[in-house]
Amino acid sequence: MIAIRYAKIRYMDISNGHGIRVSLFVQGCNFKCKGCFNQDSWDFNGGKVWTKEIEDNFIELCKKSYIDAISILGGEPLQQDEDLLKLVIRLKKEVKKPISLWTGYNFENIPNSKKVILNFIDEITDGQFIEELKDFNLKFKGSSNQHVYKKGIDY
Ligand code: SF4
Repeated sequence: MIAIRYAKIRYMDISNGHGIRVSLFVQGCNFKCKGCFNQDSWDFNGGKVWTKEIEDNFIELCKKSYIDAISILGGEPLQQDEDLLKLVIRLKKEVKKPISLWTGYNFENIPNSKKVILNFIDEITDGQFIEELKDFNLKFKGSSNQHVYKKGIDY
């Protein structure tokens, strides 16, 4: 059984990364940042169950020629079951498009047990949302403490 839970999928997303993307919002986050834009996604028992059928459809969607890349957001992707790692590996093998991931962990504090997923992610935006550092001018970030790390350049 696939144990990921998810809040929503956006099928043609231009708000979370460059280009046209498929975005997966996973369910569950224990950072509970003040002012979080997505508090409905905190509960690890909320959202919907990710099934094999949903995953197969998701993969097919990501393969569409008009889709440039894939975004994985939350909730907190790095507090998910290892099935998220399996999904990312499958995306790399079958879709072969860039994958971006947003995490509330600071890059240097990503738990060792979760670091393997970095091998398959092309771009990571790190850091919790800090309301006092909120800046509407930032692109694809909520607060100015968050940074973008690119595979092959930063890690
Ligand atoms: S890490 Fe993201 S999803 Fe989690 S509480 Fe903070 S802003 Fe919300």
